[in-house]
Amino acid sequence: MIGDLDAKVPAGPLADKWDNHRFHEKLVAPANRRRFDVIVVGTGLAGAAAAATLGELGYRVKVFTFHDSPRRAHSIAAQGGINAAKNYKNDGDSIERLFYDTIKGGDYRSREANVYRLAQISVEIIDQCVAQGVPFAREYGGLLDTRSFGGAQVSRTFYARGQTGQQLLLGAYQALERQAHLGTVELHPRVELLDVVLKDGRAAGIVTRDLVTGEMRSHSAHAVVLATGGYGNAFYLSTNAKNSNVTAIWRAHRRGALMANPCFTQIHPTCIPASDDFQSKLTLMSESLRNDGRIWVPQQMDDRRSPDQIPESERDYFLERRYPAFGNLVPRDVASRAAKREVDAGRGVGPLKNGVYLDFSDAMRRLGHDAVEERYSNLFQMYDRITGEDPYVVPMRIYPAVHYTMGGLWVDYNLMSNVPGLYVLGEANFSDHGANRLGASALMQGLADGYFVLPNTITDYLADLLGDPPVPTSDPAFAAVEDEVEERVRGLLAVNGTRSVDWFHRELGKVLWDNCGMERSADSLKKALGEIPPLRDEFHADVRVLGENETFNQSLEKAGRVADFLEFSELMCLDALHREESCGGHFRVEHQTEEGEALRDDDNFSYVAAWEFTGVDEKPVLHKEELGFEAVELSQRSYK
Ligand SMILES: Cc1cc2nc3c(=O)[nH]c(=O)nc-3n(C[C@H](O)[C@H](O)[C@H](O)COP(=O)(O)OP(=O)(O)OC[C@H]3O[C@@H](n4cnc5c(N)ncnc54)[C@H](O)[C@@H]3O)c2cc1C
Repeated sequence: MIGDLDAKVPAGPLADKWDNHRFHEKLVAPANRRRFDVIVVGTGLAGAAAAATLGELGYRVKVFTFHDSPRRAHSIAAQGGINAAKNYKNDGDSIERLFYDTIKGGDYRSREANVYRLAQISVEIIDQCVAQGVPFAREYGGLLDTRSFGGAQVSRTFYARGQTGQQLLLGAYQALERQAHLGTVELHPRVELLDVVLKDGRAAGIVTRDLVTGEMRSHSAHAVVLATGGYGNAFYLSTNAKNSNVTAIWRAHRRGALMANPCFTQIHPTCIPASDDFQSKLTLMSESLRNDGRIWVPQQMDDRRSPDQIPESERDYFLERRYPAFGNLVPRDVASRAAKREVDAGRGVGPLKNGVYLDFSDAMRRLGHDAVEERYSNLFQMYDRITGEDPYVVPMRIYPAVHYTMGGLWVDYNLMSNVPGLYVLGEANFSDHGANRLGASALMQGLADGYFVLPNTITDYLADLLGDPPVPTSDPAFAAVEDEVEERVRGLLAVNGTRSVDWFHRELGKVLWDNCGMERSADSLKKALGEIPPLRDEFHADVRVLGENETFNQSLEKAGRVADFLEFSELMCLDALHREESCGGHFRVEHQTEEGEALRDDDNFSYVAAWEFTGVDEKPVLHKEELGFEAVELSQRSYK
């Protein structure tokens, strides 16, 4: 049984905590760093940034990714931008304001000290990326340009057209490759972590499968860093890359790492609506489009007219009407629920009546075609290619979709999980965004974690291990986990049932979306909790995994990931059921204000729910990290 949670938040005033903490931590001298091995799993922005920085500092780093190149990590898909409190626009931004917006945006369910540090570090990230040559957009005077994202009244989002993630990842990747060339970083592409190994309660290494040959191998190190991304694909349909999954953090959870707030998932308001039941992927239209696009539905139910035939007086710009102060730039959870309400009321648009309009005609009149093209051309092109409709002429149709997961493994202020030596970065951890992440803050957090936080905090753990070699992979602790992994893989191949892995994944996705999606209730969650275990049993009795272990086998890869989703999603629903309040993206229909907004219960739920694994089909144990707020006053969120 795991004891009390200590978030290790440093004492002292909020603004000084990070400086004080770094001053009081143990360090590892430059000449000693090469005596430490660190495993980093994941080469998205968080993992690549961490591995490159640790390599540059002189540690011996081994990096793993299941992609064929680190550059293919899901981070490359990020479109809109990255926040930083530079206040280049002179519009009133500051570290204080970014901190406040993030705490409020997360509906007061994040740890103050982490969020403050994130806001402080945000300004360093931009400098670092510019130094790497990331081509951020610039204004006519040469200064970096910014735009606005939801939940903020300032313009603090730095961007590179609609390809910000790609450009940032290329920067991190170059830094990583430089270290690979210098020999401090060893790259292992097309290798998947299938389990985590602990020795005497500490992280000792990982067990992997080579995706091309099927070879299982153990790797040991003084510390293990998981930067393996989010679990939104539990829902099957999401905006995430198809390969994003929960396996790394779920396996760590099964070995003792606590899973925090797994029910905090984000539904993004501006995605292309699904066009049929067999779709396998949803596409995001960046939040940046809400800078210039106006969201509306026809006032009349079931209005079949084409949008340009509907006069202004018969349109409902429902976000501008309901939230005049923030308008189309309200946070994602608020915008998503508002769109759902319109569609549920029968005012949806498009062939399936499952969308709302995102209209650029005003912007085209105000700014002209060229300016709109300059800002959004690749997004417009993508939309046109997918839907066959030209957004320069016809409004886009959008609808909310699963996009990001605020939950993840619990970490302390040092980004270490409750398992000593196991660190978790980026979307894989639970930190910083509370119950709702603001747009353009994931890239900020991933890069803050990787470039700046971990390299400073890991020393405190490693310093005590100076002179100790890592646990050898010949240790029985590794052999035991390897056996388990092999058994698992053999088991999946042996079922030889009748249904495909995708069939099970789609079924699970439907259960989650219908019962633990944009709205949840005690009844719907109990229903899901009744449906998931039998579906899991059926999977293990009837899944058909084609091929064999010894070759490249994507069906086998998927089977392992879906098996883990089937275990994880039960915890997600359980967490959602236990949290008898609404906050951010967690909207319990029983807990809403008269105006249909999320109604928190600060007296009873102002904590991080961190769950301990006790076995499949067993009830997990709840640990609470109480959230104290010194700098902000808790209040009902308002964007009016
Ligand atoms: C379409 C889209 C657009 C977005 N746009 C923005 C935006 O504009 N601004 C913003 O701030 N955020 C945006 N986000 C969110 C943001 O992109 C992600 O939260 C962020 O990139 C996650 O980075 P990461 O490094 O944590 O993980 P990822 O980029 O997901 O990387 C995970 C890495 O882990 C590896 N991995 C995972 N599991 C294993 C395993 N078991 N074994 C080996 N390797 C493994 C993968 O190979 C990969 O290298 C967007 C998200 C989406 C879906």
